[in-house]
Amino acid sequence: MNTWETIIGLEIHAQLSTESKIFCGCATRFGDEPNANTCPVCLGLPGALPVLNRKTVELGARAALALGLHINNRSIFARKNYFYPDLPKGYQISQYDQPFSANGELEIMTAERDEAGHPIEWRPKSIRITRLHLEEDAGKNVHEGLPDVDRYSYIDLNRAGVPLAEIVTEPDFRSSWEAYDYVNHVRRALQWVGASEADMEKGNLRCEANVSVRRVGDGKFGTKVELKNLNSVRFMQRAIEFEVARHIKTLESGGTLTQETRLWDEKAMETRVMRSKEEAHDYRYFPEPDLAPLVITSEFIETVRKEMPELPDARRKRFMEEFGLTFAEASQLVSDRDLADYYEAAAKAAGNPRAAANWIRSELVRELEAVGVSASEAPVSAVELGSLIRFIDDGKISGKQGKDVFVEMFKTGKAAQAIIEERGLEQLSDMGEIDSLIDDVIAANPDQLASYRSGKEALLGFFVGQVIKASKGKANPKVVNERLRLKLQG
Ligand SMILES: [Zn+2]
Repeated sequence: MNTWETIIGLEIHAQLSTESKIFCGCATRFGDEPNANTCPVCLGLPGALPVLNRKTVELGARAALALGLHINNRSIFARKNYFYPDLPKGYQISQYDQPFSANGELEIMTAERDEAGHPIEWRPKSIRITRLHLEEDAGKNVHEGLPDVDRYSYIDLNRAGVPLAEIVTEPDFRSSWEAYDYVNHVRRALQWVGASEADMEKGNLRCEANVSVRRVGDGKFGTKVELKNLNSVRFMQRAIEFEVARHIKTLESGGTLTQETRLWDEKAMETRVMRSKEEAHDYRYFPEPDLAPLVITSEFIETVRKEMPELPDARRKRFMEEFGLTFAEASQLVSDRDLADYYEAAAKAAGNPRAAANWIRSELVRELEAVGVSASEAPVSAVELGSLIRFIDDGKISGKQGKDVFVEMFKTGKAAQAIIEERGLEQLSDMGEIDSLIDDVIAANPDQLASYRSGKEALLGFFVGQVIKASKGKANPKVVNERLRLKLQG
């Protein structure tokens, strides 16, 4: 009997996709020469003054709106004071008691998974969002790959001042899969509206999980552990599972847990202590005197909202209503924006939204996954897939031939029509031509015709075979069947 309940809260840091930093004009480009993208402001030199980057605010607003959050019309930047070598000013400019957005609520779709990792049953779940605020990133300490790293640490401040949106939830998750589905939801929302690349492997989306367990019915929270170094959503899910099992095992054997920060080691598939939690930090927050309060007008919000694309949930609903797709089908097609755009264009080109959905969900997605590219980079354009579907719907080629043609289209980038012509695949569907073939076959087989007419209907197959053979395999079997039935009756 499972008498334990898992409690998880999440913090996400998402890098906003600006070209320059949040308080200066330095580039946010990744991979440049260390410390190339720095200036007196992001180096924290005395007397340098921060100026808020308007684009950061716009992308922060996009992020908040994509998550259905309210935006405060006034928020305050604050200094978060702490000492660390990668923070030259001795404080980070963040937001504290008056953040960009607070007290939000986000509905996600979530499901537990079976042994093979397949979702069991999707259900909605509401997650309380404590806050979304804007802040600057710190620099990076470099401990390897440079001379004398046993004696020296190096500091790269290219990242110092890169804009972040920090999104914090209440401890509302009850399983690792809920956390997994939430992070994926947030990632997709941020990518969808262009607020962030939200790529965990590149580090422009970082995630921390606070995990604890308690006996079901217990009002108090258990000792919590903070998990870091979660470089993918899957790693996060595994790390949480590992921690939950460790907590339960420790508590059931009479042990106690320590409040600490732990890192996930993907190779060893386990968490390891990074540091035990000292006293809670006193960051001595106070309002940043060099920046005016950030005032967001409702006109500004409306302008941002108007420029945003249709959001995933709305689009899924529309796909279900407009194209008759199921929830699962529509969900898969809106799993990323490129795929949703692709689907819509293909459905239109094919004039058959149902077939377009089937082709994309099976053939296209399989080929894309095999080569690891997104729908926007597919060698088969949506319009070309649409024209392939039309060839099949018009009876010019069979569905089975269509699949081979598609594979070749994907491999070579050639148009459906070109491949069909090259391979001489086009079926003969012209009724006049088929009728004349049928007449010849009937005339050449008078005995079989007599047997058929006296009741040996199994001979239909014989006639179909003869007509197809006479057409050198090109006659459309469906049309041949229909016409033959009529003509054999006389
Ligand atoms: Zn700078």
